[in-house]
Amino acid sequence: MIKPLLKGLSITFKYIFKKKFTVQYPEERRELPPRAKWLHILQRHEDGKERCVACMLCASACPTEAIYIVGEENDLYNPVSHGERYAKVWDLDLGRCMFCGYCVEACPEEALAMTDEYELAVPTKKDLVLHKEDLLVPPGTPPVHTWLGFYRNEPVAAHPVSRPKELHIEFEEYLKRRGPKEENE
Ligand code: SF4
Ligand code: SF4
Repeated sequence: MIKPLLKGLSITFKYIFKKKFTVQYPEERRELPPRAKWLHILQRHEDGKERCVACMLCASACPTEAIYIVGEENDLYNPVSHGERYAKVWDLDLGRCMFCGYCVEACPEEALAMTDEYELAVPTKKDLVLHKEDLLVPPGTPPVHTWLGFYRNEPVAAHPVSRPKELHIEFEEYLKRRGPKEENE
């Protein structure tokens, strides 16, 4: 009887003066690892245009069908994105999402990223559905690295964030060649 008690007390005294692991949340918060994958964001290019081109690859890659996108053709003279299309609707159902990051891996434009924002509790299930307006970062927000290669064990700096910029020069050239917008367009 006394032996187990002493054994228990010895463990208590062993840890009593050691550094505490308990964090007094929410007053205190632990710093999350750099690759923490929580709330999604939709990113913009440096010129403010949206990175998403409504290719649907993220929605196709999602194992829980948590992403719903409706694409629309860009107005060539006032495009929303750098591609032919942009996402008119980009919804994410956090109630279905399991934060696997497959959607981010699938995105060819680095339009989609995941942040360390983990406080996602909402009063109703309906509030778990987030819309483009909730996820799109304001113009001027510097793009964050989307950790391409997360599942391939590549170094984090293997792919530059601004990679798509050069890819879209052709589109700008196309607009120049096309000339001014016609009245009846
Ligand atoms: S993190 Fe995974 S489950 Fe969540 S939306 Fe992306 S692919 Fe779907
Ligand atoms: S977020 Fe990326 S993968 Fe998804 S539709 Fe937009 S460009 Fe395509």
